[in-house]
Amino acid sequence: MTEADTDAVVTIVGGGVHGVHLAVRLLDAELLELSELRIIDPAGLLEAFRRQCRQCGMVEFRSPFVHHVDTDPFSLRDFARAHGREDELVPSTVGADRPTVSLFFDHAEWLCDRYDLESIWLEARVTDIADRRGVVEIETNHGRIDSRWCLLAVGHGGSFTYPEWAADLASTEPVTHVWDPGFDPDAIGETSTVGVVGGGITAAQLATTLAQPGRDVVLFARSPFRVETLEASTDWMHFSGAIENLHAHPPGSRAREELVSDARYDGTMPPYVFRRLQRALERKRVELEQSEITVATEAGGTVVVTCRDGSAFCLDELICATGFGSPYDGELFRHLRRESSLQTGYHGAPVLDDDTLRWMRQDETPSRIAVSGAAAEQVLGPFARNVIGARRAGELIAGSLESDLDAEKRTTKL
Ligand SMILES: Cc1cc2nc3c(=O)[nH]c(=O)nc-3n(C[C@H](O)[C@H](O)[C@H](O)COP(=O)(O)OP(=O)(O)OC[C@H]3O[C@@H](n4cnc5c(N)ncnc54)[C@H](O)[C@@H]3O)c2cc1C
Repeated sequence: MTEADTDAVVTIVGGGVHGVHLAVRLLDAELLELSELRIIDPAGLLEAFRRQCRQCGMVEFRSPFVHHVDTDPFSLRDFARAHGREDELVPSTVGADRPTVSLFFDHAEWLCDRYDLESIWLEARVTDIADRRGVVEIETNHGRIDSRWCLLAVGHGGSFTYPEWAADLASTEPVTHVWDPGFDPDAIGETSTVGVVGGGITAAQLATTLAQPGRDVVLFARSPFRVETLEASTDWMHFSGAIENLHAHPPGSRAREELVSDARYDGTMPPYVFRRLQRALERKRVELEQSEITVATEAGGTVVVTCRDGSAFCLDELICATGFGSPYDGELFRHLRRESSLQTGYHGAPVLDDDTLRWMRQDETPSRIAVSGAAAEQVLGPFARNVIGARRAGELIAGSLESDLDAEKRTTKL
């Protein structure tokens, strides 16, 4: 790491949807110069999300075209028009048109170029963060960066969940997780027998993508399918009564955590994904096993699974599409929980200030670390992890930084 890499006014940890949107928002509002901003990510800007979309075979976004990483809600639509790609805004039976994955990422890449974000990206993994009052010390696998402010946008931080029966087999061939960075759907044999575990959007997309002539695909879904357009009620998209009710409970509390988890339509799929799955089932390109796997045993490069209803299958590959883990269980959050003077609450949730998303210290003063993404859902509700959540977090964080940065600049001039 060079000298120029080490000094920053604001350092964003994580260059996904949330990190990129925060950078764009701060630069757009002219709160700081490009040279005063850093984004640290081992994978590259938006690369982890791009990989996840490819891993599950997603072709269209679930959210409407006004949800993207720019500040102007109509930026993606204008980009599509300017490039003759309006046909990539896919009509929706309910709500606004949705962008294709390639349109979303091309627009995001165009935006990153416009703000020259690649030039401030540091390829590194953050291993520790120490809040030292006037400065935040950010330890990475390539050295330390000192920054006046740190914005944490690490998504789920690499945590995903396996079912209990997979505990001893997880990530050993032939059992894997769709979010395992090493999972490559293109590496699956053309004539393989593949099992997909899960009953939500990811499992349905993966099963229908993998279903190709010559390949047998079995979908293990223990519960009936549930169809929902979005991940939660739209009441949560606005600073509305729902958010007020959430904030009525203490920050970091079990009550907030439960309210958000009850509000999320986890394990559901939108109508267009359900229709695609239905067609694949009708055409017998996907076989449905509506039971729960109870035992799985590896046997010479294949896996034999037995279900609660007594049926058994021998599979070449078994892919779990069983969701992300808690955002507080990623490596960095676990480390901070053990080692730092920042407050954590129920299940390790960061205790954040509702108005600024700043992580509170043990002494009840706000730190210089703010949080965006899934780990901010106790403040922003069930859409915190989504693109709309990035926009809400951006408003709050930029709003609070504006006054703090102004005050700091005035002090420096004196
Ligand atoms: C397949 C899929 C489809 C989705 N579709 C939609 C949709 O249609 N609409 C919608 O609104 N939302 C959608 N979401 C939800 C959400 O928008 C995405 O998950 C989005 O990627 C979240 O952005 P993020 O920046 O919080 O996390 P990520 O995109 O995961 O980015 C986090 C970044 O942090 C980096 N990182 C992690 N740990 C460290 C560390 N220690 N040091 C440095 N960097 C680190 C990672 O490398 C990664 O690049 C979807 C999610 C998935 C998985």
